Amino acid sequence: MGTVAENIEIIRARIRAALERAGREPGSVRLVAVSKRQPLEAIREAMAAGQVLFGENYLQEAHDKVLAIDQGVAWHCIGHLQSNKARIAAEIFDCIETLDRLKLGKALESRLAELGKTMPVLIQVNVGGEAQKAGVAPHEAAQFCRDLQQFPHLIVQGLMTMPPFVDDPEESRGCFRQLRLLGEELAAQGLLGRQGPVELSMGMSGDFEVAIEEGATLVRVGTALFGER
Ligand SMILES: *Cc1c(COP(=O)(O)O)cnc(C)c1O
Repeated sequence: MGTVAENIEIIRARIRAALERAGREPGSVRLVAVSKRQPLEAIREAMAAGQVLFGENYLQEAHDKVLAIDQGVAWHCIGHLQSNKARIAAEIFDCIETLDRLKLGKALESRLAELGKTMPVLIQVNVGGEAQKAGVAPHEAAQFCRDLQQFPHLIVQGLMTMPPFVDDPEESRGCFRQLRLLGEELAAQGLLGRQGPVELSMGMSGDFEVAIEEGATLVRVGTALFGER
């Protein structure tokens, strides 16, 4: 594996190529550098290479990093978030990609209202229907969006998914496509994307190109960028 800077260049080139194959606009995908369990040094290397968006899974770790880095970058929460941690999450993150329960939405809303801050959020959808994975079922997503409309500080911007683990990324294509179709359906009902385009967060180190071909606007890449954790 190369340096973080070299890896980022390679990933950017692969993103561009996937966009071109899919006939999509250059620049229509944002790279979320997944920095969980990586040291600050690695984050600073990525920043030096122009990376401005990071994804973190664990609240305490994210809190420490946000305080240490403090400026110039945006942080997405991509891990399971407990409602009792929502207050801090509302303070430190720029987007919660893993909203999957009304209780969590309510806890975020309460702190955001105090802060006078709105927050883009994505709804985590369990497209594969796996019992061990978080996320709302696809058929529950529309009602969940409607329920979230009572929370004016949450801007429901799109959907996020983690497909079942497979060896061949082609096997995830169906899940990615399903998320895009669900996103289109919800957007047509006016339930997504009140500010700007609908976001679809899907694709990780092993399958981000397939996800881009299927419409991802955010890809969450850790290992291919920073190396093993
Ligand atoms: C860890 C993680 C990633 C990054 O996975 P890699 O395979 O290391 O790229 C992406 N999304 C979520 C939700 C994660 O927890």
